[in-house]
Amino acid sequence: MPRDFPAPPVFADLMEAKARLAPHVHRTPVMTSRSFDAETGARVFFKCETFQRGGAFKFRGAMNAILALPEAARARGVVAYSSGNHAQGLAYAAKIAGIPATIVMPRDAPALKIAATRGYGAEVVFYDRYSESREEIGRRIAEAQDASLIPPFDHPDVIAGQGTATIELLEETGPLDALFVPLGGGGLLAGAALAAQALSPGCRVFGVEPAAGNDGQMSLAKGEIVEIPVPRSIADGAIVTAVGRHNFPVLRDAVTAIETVTDAELVAMMRFHAERMKLYVEPTGCLPGAAIRKQAASLAGKRVGAILSGGNVDLARFAELVLAAGEEAA
Ligand SMILES: *Cc1c(COP(=O)(O)O)cnc(C)c1O
Repeated sequence: MPRDFPAPPVFADLMEAKARLAPHVHRTPVMTSRSFDAETGARVFFKCETFQRGGAFKFRGAMNAILALPEAARARGVVAYSSGNHAQGLAYAAKIAGIPATIVMPRDAPALKIAATRGYGAEVVFYDRYSESREEIGRRIAEAQDASLIPPFDHPDVIAGQGTATIELLEETGPLDALFVPLGGGGLLAGAALAAQALSPGCRVFGVEPAAGNDGQMSLAKGEIVEIPVPRSIADGAIVTAVGRHNFPVLRDAVTAIETVTDAELVAMMRFHAERMKLYVEPTGCLPGAAIRKQAASLAGKRVGAILSGGNVDLARFAELVLAAGEEAA
């Protein structure tokens, strides 16, 4: 349900989300690595949302948005347009809630992703990404079915749901000096910043986005949302053209800075997570680790959190990326 602007969520919304989600989400593990700590000089705690339902944190926001709907609206179902983790997160959440879901996907989306979304019982509607507007199609379907359109990040209930990952992390680690979070449209980061502000005051919160698409960094510098052309990066969960309108005020008020990393740095981090930590992380999920490596000089002796946001990447694609980078890259 769209709400009036500006209505950014507050910490109390995150606690409400946490209670609502408790029976449904996995409390994902927090992992550490002696070799990463030795390399960076920091004590780093990785919150592994790779083990969340649907393979990414997106399930939290999707499930919270569904559960927050009034019962009658919920029963009529939900609609999303996404080719990525939000589609799978929402489809899975709808299945658990026992309501219908329609996902608008590009006709040329990876067969595996289409199959996974259908596997959760969602109806998949295709569009042509070069000639049709998915927003338009999504809105039309939502209207025709009287269903609720659930956006991937620009929604208070989605932000509140994503913030529960950071609440869990801080419950486990206690106060942190710094927290690194991937940044796409800002659902995960806005939620993380609200959680950190409340539970670990003084913790510096960093968003991390691909260097090729630093719209978030430019937006914070300019004090307003900056829109860019679709960026090209292997971090496909973070290649958005602009942060959300509900997200921006939270980022502006509660985020310390936005850092950027290159695709090569992401691949090196993917390799590290796999080889040294035995973690299968998608490129977007490698943003925080890669940024911590770059910032190591300022993090020595600090307690640092990192949200490993997801692990949905084809094995063949994973292998292609790490093998192309060669041995030395790690
Ligand atoms: C969606 C996504 C992100 C970015 O989250 P936003 O809320 O859009 O900023 C980061 N990592 C993964 C794995 C994602 O699926």
